[in-house]
Amino acid sequence: MAKPPHEPDPALARLILALRSQGVTDPAVLNAIETTPREAFTPDLFKERAFEDSALPIACGQTISQPYIVGLMTQALKIDRRDRVLEIGTGSGYQTTILSKLSRLVYTVERYRTLLRDAEALFKTLGLTNVITKFGDGGKGWPEQAPFDRIMVTAAAPGEPKALLSQLKPSGILVAPIGKGPVQSLRRYVGDGEGGFEVEALTDVRFVPLLDGVAKEL
Ligand code: SAH
Repeated sequence: MAKPPHEPDPALARLILALRSQGVTDPAVLNAIETTPREAFTPDLFKERAFEDSALPIACGQTISQPYIVGLMTQALKIDRRDRVLEIGTGSGYQTTILSKLSRLVYTVERYRTLLRDAEALFKTLGLTNVITKFGDGGKGWPEQAPFDRIMVTAAAPGEPKALLSQLKPSGILVAPIGKGPVQSLRRYVGDGEGGFEVEALTDVRFVPLLDGVAKEL
């Protein structure tokens, strides 16, 4: 049974405290994390660890991101309530759900049909009405819906994600892990309003790679 709101889960309370102490302090972002049941996005085998601050395996050899990194990336995006956000790499749908609580519309793209179906079922269960999904190669973005106010990439791009940057509004923000190796640099691109970008390295991260094309599943 769900716990009443005045009795916060101690594991969740610890997680929020840990995020805060690491610099995730935006109240709207913390509230979105606090109200998103990470266990719903975590496979049965790992449900007990849903409120640990670590990445966990999901189907198709992918991962649900570490809550601290989810918090850091979401905060770095400086989302406004009116924003249309593009997310590349739906995965479990955990990050999508958090984005949906902070923005007007979330467009999310995944290259595994299975993952996308599971995530869509969860969005329905959670009653999210502002998430639009697409099965496809997110490296190409979603040109028909561009330009976006914000773009979040949750798989590591080998280099500057030019196709995605071209689908960002002139003063938009894109956050993505960039690099070919097991450790990548989390970068924030802030549009200068004239077609250029200011680029900032936020921290080192470990993401699964952004792969070309859609996945072949049995
Ligand atoms: N945001 C997710 C993280 C999932 S891991 C979560 O919170 O659970 C990264 C995801 O990116 C994987 O599901 C992977 O299949 C997907 N991905 C990798 N390359 C992609 C591409 N080119 N297009 C769409 N999705 C991609």
